[in-house]
Amino acid sequence: MTNIHPETRRFLDRAAKEELLRQKGVVLWLYGLSGSGKSTIANEVERVLHGDGRMTVILDGDNLRTGLNSNLGFTDDDRTENVRRVAETAKLLAGQGIIVFVSVITPLRRHRAAAREIIGPDFHEIYVKAGFDTCAERDPKGLYAKAKEGKIGQFTGKDSGFEEPENAALVLDTEARSVDQCAADLLGYWRSVADGRRGE
Ligand code: ADP
Repeated sequence: MTNIHPETRRFLDRAAKEELLRQKGVVLWLYGLSGSGKSTIANEVERVLHGDGRMTVILDGDNLRTGLNSNLGFTDDDRTENVRRVAETAKLLAGQGIIVFVSVITPLRRHRAAAREIIGPDFHEIYVKAGFDTCAERDPKGLYAKAKEGKIGQFTGKDSGFEEPENAALVLDTEARSVDQCAADLLGYWRSVADGRRGE
């Protein structure tokens, strides 16, 4: 580390970026089982915000695993590293004034705590809630069927643990509420953050 000198003073600062974009950077970290609805909801809300002239990005766990995180699997250590890289990326983007949606399973409380630690006050923990049986029934990517046949190891909720949250800022219950309702709830939450009515 001694030969590494992070450069910050000559770079345009966050306020300059936020002024250009006329918005505040934030990280809306959506987590929950595969098939719980993270990507669906993030997409819905992103489209609304984009239509409203907002600069957004979705960091999707599956997509990132084809590039930045392609050398990672699903062991405990690899999931921890996956979360660390996504959190560092989200932090960089939020620091440029961008509204960042993260869509990553983030199964354990310590993973969520690590993301919060890296990102700081811009981090908002949003639990996309649906039970294992519901997700297995939806099975949008065919993963539950494969896991049942034993073709996927370390599958979250089956042979790899998922811990329910203790302190999610928002719970989107996708069994009880429709996609539109969940998207409206997340949009309302974002508005309250953007207005400064709510901080983590
Ligand atoms: P994840 O990103 O969490 O793996 P996806 O968004 O890819 O999950 O898939 C969720 C599936 O559940 C989709 O087929 C979606 O249509 C369905 N679904 C049903 N109800 C809801 C809801 N209220 N919110 C989000 N998705 C829902």
